[in-house]
Amino acid sequence: MFKVDTPPLQPVDWPVFAAAGVELYIKRDDLLDSVCSGNKLYKLHRHLQLANAQGATRLLSFGGAYSNHLHALAALGRRLGLSTIGIVRGERPAQLSPTLLDAERWGMQLGFISRSDYRRKHTRAFGERLRAQWGEFYRVPEGAGDVIGARGCRAMAGAIAAQLPGGAEHVCVPCGTGATLAGLASALPAGVTAHGFAVLKGGNREGEADLQDSVAALIAQLGGTAAQWRLHRGFHAGGYARFPDRLRAFMAAFEARTGILLDPVYTVKMIRGLAWLAERGAFNRGERIVAIHTGGLQGRRGFGLD
Ligand SMILES: *Cc1c(COP(=O)(O)O)cnc(C)c1O
Repeated sequence: MFKVDTPPLQPVDWPVFAAAGVELYIKRDDLLDSVCSGNKLYKLHRHLQLANAQGATRLLSFGGAYSNHLHALAALGRRLGLSTIGIVRGERPAQLSPTLLDAERWGMQLGFISRSDYRRKHTRAFGERLRAQWGEFYRVPEGAGDVIGARGCRAMAGAIAAQLPGGAEHVCVPCGTGATLAGLASALPAGVTAHGFAVLKGGNREGEADLQDSVAALIAQLGGTAAQWRLHRGFHAGGYARFPDRLRAFMAAFEARTGILLDPVYTVKMIRGLAWLAERGAFNRGERIVAIHTGGLQGRRGFGLD
Protein backbone atom coordinates (compact mmCIF):
# COMPACT_ATOMS: atom_id res chain seq x y z
CA MET A 1 0.00 0.00 0.00
CA PHE A 2 2.79 2.39 0.93
CA LYS A 3 6.41 2.17 0.28
CA VAL A 4 8.00 3.04 3.58
CA ASP A 5 11.64 3.15 4.46
CA THR A 6 12.56 1.02 7.42
CA PRO A 7 12.86 3.33 10.42
CA PRO A 8 16.11 2.99 12.36
CA LEU A 9 16.64 0.75 15.34
CA GLN A 10 18.36 3.25 17.57
CA PRO A 11 20.65 2.31 20.45
CA VAL A 12 19.87 4.43 23.48
CA ASP A 13 22.32 5.69 26.01
CA TRP A 14 20.44 5.95 29.30
CA PRO A 15 22.33 5.38 32.57
CA VAL A 16 19.92 2.93 34.20
CA PHE A 17 20.29 0.48 31.35
CA ALA A 18 24.04 0.83 31.18
CA ALA A 19 24.24 0.19 34.94
CA ALA A 20 22.12 -2.93 34.54
CA GLY A 21 24.43 -4.16 31.80
CA VAL A 22 21.67 -4.33 29.18
CA GLU A 23 21.44 -2.72 25.77
CA LEU A 24 18.31 -0.77 24.91
CA TYR A 25 17.28 -0.15 21.32
CA ILE A 26 14.31 1.91 20.30
CA LYS A 27 12.60 0.83 17.12
CA ARG A 28 11.67 4.19 15.69
CA ASP A 29 8.27 3.36 14.24
CA ASP A 30 7.31 6.92 15.14
CA LEU A 31 9.20 7.73 11.92
CA LEU A 32 7.32 5.17 9.81
CA ASP A 33 5.07 7.65 8.05
CA SER A 34 4.51 11.38 8.29
CA VAL A 35 0.87 11.17 9.37
CA CYS A 36 0.22 7.52 10.16
CA SER A 37 3.08 6.56 12.41
CA GLY A 38 3.80 3.96 15.01
CA ASN A 39 1.73 0.84 15.31
CA LYS A 40 -1.38 2.23 13.61
CA LEU A 41 -0.23 1.53 10.07
CA TYR A 42 0.49 -2.07 11.09
CA LYS A 43 -2.89 -2.38 12.77
CA LEU A 44 -4.90 -0.82 9.98
CA HIS A 45 -3.40 -2.20 6.83
CA ARG A 46 -5.23 -5.54 6.90
CA HIS A 47 -8.50 -3.82 7.67
CA LEU A 48 -7.95 -1.61 4.62
CA GLN A 49 -7.23 -4.68 2.50
CA LEU A 50 -10.43 -6.34 3.71
CA ALA A 51 -12.50 -3.22 3.17
CA ASN A 52 -11.09 -3.02 -0.33
CA ALA A 53 -11.85 -6.69 -1.00
CA GLN A 54 -15.44 -6.08 0.10
CA GLY A 55 -15.74 -3.07 -2.17
CA ALA A 56 -16.32 -0.76 0.79
CA THR A 57 -15.57 2.92 0.25
CA ARG A 58 -16.50 4.16 3.73
CA LEU A 59 -14.79 3.22 6.95
CA LEU A 60 -16.24 3.80 10.39
CA SER A 61 -14.46 3.51 13.70
CA PHE A 62 -14.43 4.67 17.30
CA GLY A 63 -12.21 6.61 19.65
CA GLY A 64 -11.75 9.39 22.16
CA ALA A 65 -11.09 13.05 21.41
CA TYR A 66 -7.30 12.49 21.25
CA SER A 67 -7.40 9.11 19.56
CA ASN A 68 -4.28 8.22 17.59
CA HIS A 69 -6.38 5.57 15.91
CA LEU A 70 -9.01 7.96 14.51
CA HIS A 71 -6.23 10.35 13.52
CA ALA A 72 -4.44 7.60 11.57
CA LEU A 73 -7.66 6.35 10.00
CA ALA A 74 -8.59 9.83 8.81
CA ALA A 75 -5.12 10.30 7.32
CA LEU A 76 -5.21 6.97 5.51
CA GLY A 77 -8.75 7.56 4.27
CA ARG A 78 -7.75 10.83 2.75
CA ARG A 79 -4.69 9.34 1.13
CA LEU A 80 -6.59 6.38 -0.31
CA GLY A 81 -9.68 8.31 -1.36
CA LEU A 82 -11.97 6.54 1.11
CA SER A 83 -14.53 8.29 3.25
CA THR A 84 -14.15 7.93 6.97
CA ILE A 85 -16.50 8.32 9.90
CA GLY A 86 -15.21 8.75 13.44
CA ILE A 87 -17.59 7.97 16.29
CA VAL A 88 -16.24 9.90 19.25
CA ARG A 89 -16.90 9.21 22.92
CA GLY A 90 -18.63 12.11 24.68
CA GLU A 91 -20.41 15.33 23.75
CA ARG A 92 -19.14 17.47 20.91
CA PRO A 93 -17.06 20.14 22.67
CA ALA A 94 -17.23 23.82 21.75
CA GLN A 95 -13.59 23.59 20.70
CA LEU A 96 -12.47 20.39 18.98
CA SER A 97 -9.18 18.83 20.04
CA PRO A 98 -6.24 19.26 17.64
CA THR A 99 -6.61 15.55 16.85
CA LEU A 100 -10.21 15.87 15.75
CA LEU A 101 -9.52 19.14 13.93
CA ASP A 102 -6.94 17.30 11.81
CA ALA A 103 -9.36 14.43 11.26
CA GLU A 104 -12.13 16.78 10.11
CA ARG A 105 -9.75 18.69 7.89
CA TRP A 106 -8.83 15.37 6.26
CA GLY A 107 -12.49 14.70 5.53
CA MET A 108 -13.50 12.49 8.43
CA GLN A 109 -17.13 12.95 9.44
CA LEU A 110 -17.50 13.00 13.19
CA GLY A 111 -20.36 11.68 15.26
CA PHE A 112 -20.42 12.21 19.02
CA ILE A 113 -22.11 9.71 21.33
CA SER A 114 -22.62 9.53 25.07
CA ARG A 115 -20.29 7.47 27.21
CA SER A 116 -23.08 5.00 27.94
CA ASP A 117 -23.80 4.52 24.24
CA TYR A 118 -20.08 4.18 23.69
CA ARG A 119 -19.99 1.24 26.09
CA ARG A 120 -22.87 -0.31 24.16
CA LYS A 121 -21.19 0.03 20.80
CA HIS A 122 -20.84 -3.75 20.48
CA THR A 123 -24.56 -4.41 20.70
CA ARG A 124 -26.64 -5.29 17.69
CA ALA A 125 -29.13 -2.54 18.45
CA PHE A 126 -26.38 0.07 18.44
CA GLY A 127 -24.98 -1.33 15.18
CA GLU A 128 -28.41 -0.87 13.61
CA ARG A 129 -28.60 2.71 14.84
CA LEU A 130 -25.24 3.40 13.23
CA ARG A 131 -26.44 1.94 9.91
CA ALA A 132 -29.63 3.98 10.08
CA GLN A 133 -27.62 7.14 10.64
CA TRP A 134 -24.58 6.59 8.46
CA GLY A 135 -25.60 4.02 5.83
CA GLU A 136 -23.25 1.28 4.68
CA PHE A 137 -19.68 1.18 5.97
CA TYR A 138 -16.83 -1.13 6.84
CA ARG A 139 -16.49 -1.14 10.61
CA VAL A 140 -13.05 -1.04 12.16
CA PRO A 141 -13.22 -1.84 15.87
CA GLU A 142 -11.95 0.71 18.38
CA GLY A 143 -8.17 0.94 18.11
CA ALA A 144 -8.26 -1.85 15.47
CA GLY A 145 -7.92 -3.97 18.58
CA ASP A 146 -9.18 -7.19 17.04
CA VAL A 147 -7.49 -10.20 15.47
CA ILE A 148 -7.26 -8.44 12.10
CA GLY A 149 -5.41 -5.55 13.67
CA ALA A 150 -3.23 -7.94 15.65
CA ARG A 151 -2.37 -9.96 12.55
CA GLY A 152 -1.06 -6.82 10.91
CA CYS A 153 1.37 -6.36 13.80
CA ARG A 154 3.06 -9.70 13.21
CA ALA A 155 5.22 -7.96 10.63
CA MET A 156 6.93 -6.01 13.42
CA ALA A 157 8.72 -9.17 14.51
CA GLY A 158 10.30 -9.69 11.10
CA ALA A 159 11.39 -6.06 10.94
CA ILE A 160 13.31 -6.47 14.19
CA ALA A 161 14.94 -9.71 13.08
CA ALA A 162 16.09 -8.02 9.88
CA GLN A 163 17.56 -5.04 11.71
CA LEU A 164 19.18 -6.68 14.70
CA PRO A 165 21.24 -9.70 13.69
CA GLY A 166 21.32 -12.04 16.64
CA GLY A 167 18.00 -10.67 17.80
CA ALA A 168 16.97 -9.43 21.20
CA GLU A 169 15.88 -11.23 24.36
CA HIS A 170 13.06 -8.77 25.07
CA VAL A 171 10.69 -6.80 22.84
CA CYS A 172 8.40 -4.20 24.41
CA VAL A 173 5.28 -2.27 23.47
CA PRO A 174 2.78 -0.13 25.35
CA CYS A 175 -0.72 -1.66 25.53
CA GLY A 176 -4.13 -0.16 25.00
CA THR A 177 -6.22 -2.91 23.42
CA GLY A 178 -3.26 -5.32 23.53
CA ALA A 179 -3.59 -6.18 19.83
CA THR A 180 -0.06 -5.00 19.07
CA LEU A 181 1.37 -7.12 21.88
CA ALA A 182 -0.62 -10.13 20.69
CA GLY A 183 0.54 -9.79 17.09
CA LEU A 184 4.14 -9.40 18.14
CA ALA A 185 4.10 -12.23 20.66
CA SER A 186 2.58 -14.56 18.11
CA ALA A 187 5.35 -13.83 15.61
CA LEU A 188 8.52 -13.50 17.69
CA PRO A 189 10.78 -16.52 17.82
CA ALA A 190 10.91 -18.83 20.81
CA GLY A 191 13.26 -17.62 23.50
CA VAL A 192 12.21 -14.00 23.14
CA THR A 193 9.92 -12.42 25.72
CA ALA A 194 7.33 -9.90 24.55
CA HIS A 195 6.48 -7.31 27.20
CA GLY A 196 3.35 -5.19 27.22
CA PHE A 197 2.98 -2.11 29.42
CA ALA A 198 -0.66 -1.36 30.16
CA VAL A 199 -1.51 2.34 30.02
CA LEU A 200 -4.96 2.00 31.53
CA LYS A 201 -5.53 1.57 35.21
CA GLY A 202 -5.97 -2.12 35.83
CA GLY A 203 -5.17 -2.54 32.15
CA ASN A 204 -8.76 -2.82 31.05
CA ARG A 205 -10.85 -0.61 28.79
CA GLU A 206 -14.32 0.27 29.96
CA GLY A 207 -16.82 -2.38 28.91
CA GLU A 208 -14.10 -4.65 27.51
CA ALA A 209 -12.66 -7.97 28.62
CA ASP A 210 -9.67 -8.21 30.94
CA LEU A 211 -6.53 -7.23 29.03
CA GLN A 212 -4.61 -10.39 29.92
CA ASP A 213 -7.51 -12.50 28.66
CA SER A 214 -7.92 -10.47 25.46
CA VAL A 215 -4.24 -10.78 24.61
CA ALA A 216 -4.28 -14.53 25.30
CA ALA A 217 -7.40 -14.93 23.16
CA LEU A 218 -5.90 -12.96 20.27
CA ILE A 219 -2.68 -14.99 20.39
CA ALA A 220 -4.71 -18.21 20.36
CA GLN A 221 -6.68 -16.96 17.35
CA LEU A 222 -3.49 -16.03 15.54
CA GLY A 223 -2.25 -19.52 16.13
CA GLY A 224 1.16 -18.53 17.41
CA THR A 225 2.62 -19.37 20.78
CA ALA A 226 6.29 -19.11 20.00
CA ALA A 227 7.36 -16.28 22.28
CA GLN A 228 6.64 -15.90 25.96
CA TRP A 229 4.80 -12.74 26.86
CA ARG A 230 4.18 -10.70 29.98
CA LEU A 231 1.84 -7.90 30.80
CA HIS A 232 3.01 -5.18 33.21
CA ARG A 233 0.12 -3.39 34.81
CA GLY A 234 1.90 -1.24 37.36
CA PHE A 235 3.07 1.61 35.12
CA HIS A 236 -0.17 3.38 34.15
CA ALA A 237 0.78 6.39 36.33
CA GLY A 238 -2.79 6.87 37.55
CA GLY A 239 -4.69 5.77 34.46
CA TYR A 240 -5.30 6.50 30.82
CA ALA A 241 -4.01 9.92 29.73
CA ARG A 242 -2.84 10.69 33.28
CA PHE A 243 0.41 12.56 33.05
CA PRO A 244 1.60 13.40 36.56
CA ASP A 245 4.56 15.72 37.11
CA ARG A 246 7.04 12.94 37.87
CA LEU A 247 6.21 11.31 34.54
CA ARG A 248 6.51 14.65 32.78
CA ALA A 249 9.92 15.16 34.40
CA PHE A 250 11.05 11.68 33.37
CA MET A 251 9.96 12.32 29.81
CA ALA A 252 11.72 15.67 29.62
CA ALA A 253 14.97 14.16 30.94
CA PHE A 254 14.77 11.22 28.53
CA GLU A 255 14.09 13.47 25.58
CA ALA A 256 16.88 15.86 26.48
CA ARG A 257 19.43 13.07 26.71
CA THR A 258 18.40 10.88 23.79
CA GLY A 259 16.77 13.35 21.40
CA ILE A 260 13.86 10.93 21.03
CA LEU A 261 10.44 12.46 21.65
CA LEU A 262 7.90 10.31 23.48
CA ASP A 263 4.15 10.64 23.82
CA PRO A 264 2.53 11.16 27.24
CA VAL A 265 -0.15 8.48 26.91
CA TYR A 266 1.74 5.39 25.77
CA THR A 267 5.43 5.36 25.04
CA VAL A 268 6.63 7.27 28.10
CA LYS A 269 4.91 4.73 30.35
CA MET A 270 6.65 1.87 28.61
CA ILE A 271 10.10 3.50 28.84
CA ARG A 272 9.59 4.43 32.48
CA GLY A 273 8.39 0.92 33.25
CA LEU A 274 11.42 -0.54 31.50
CA ALA A 275 13.78 1.72 33.44
CA TRP A 276 12.10 0.71 36.69
CA LEU A 277 12.47 -2.97 35.82
CA ALA A 278 16.10 -2.60 34.71
CA GLU A 279 16.93 -0.77 37.94
CA ARG A 280 15.56 -3.69 39.94
CA GLY A 281 17.50 -6.34 38.09
CA ALA A 282 14.64 -7.72 36.00
CA PHE A 283 16.99 -8.31 33.07
CA ASN A 284 20.14 -10.38 32.87
CA ARG A 285 23.41 -8.66 32.09
CA GLY A 286 24.25 -8.80 28.40
CA GLU A 287 20.63 -8.96 27.30
CA ARG A 288 19.25 -6.81 24.52
CA ILE A 289 15.93 -5.03 24.77
CA VAL A 290 14.00 -3.58 21.87
CA ALA A 291 11.33 -1.04 22.81
CA ILE A 292 9.00 -0.25 19.95
CA HIS A 293 8.21 3.43 19.62
CA THR A 294 4.56 3.09 18.71
CA GLY A 295 4.24 6.75 17.73
CA GLY A 296 1.37 8.83 19.03
CA LEU A 297 3.32 12.06 18.96
CA GLN A 298 0.32 13.97 17.61
CA GLY A 299 -1.23 13.43 21.04
CA ARG A 300 1.41 15.63 22.67
CA ARG A 301 -0.63 18.66 21.65
CA GLY A 302 -3.32 17.65 24.13
CA PHE A 303 -0.76 18.10 26.94
CA GLY A 304 0.60 21.46 25.90
CA LEU A 305 3.66 19.89 24.25
CA ASP A 306 4.47 20.34 20.60
C1 LIG B 1 -2.79 2.84 19.90
C2 LIG B 1 -1.47 2.94 20.52
C3 LIG B 1 -0.95 1.92 21.33
C4 LIG B 1 -1.76 0.74 21.76
O1 LIG B 1 -1.81 -0.32 20.86
P1 LIG B 1 -2.76 -1.55 21.19
O2 LIG B 1 -2.58 -2.46 20.05
O3 LIG B 1 -4.17 -1.01 21.26
O4 LIG B 1 -2.39 -2.14 22.47
C5 LIG B 1 0.34 2.06 21.81
N1 LIG B 1 1.07 3.16 21.54
C6 LIG B 1 0.59 4.17 20.81
C7 LIG B 1 1.44 5.38 20.61
C8 LIG B 1 -0.69 4.11 20.28
O5 LIG B 1 -1.17 5.13 19.56
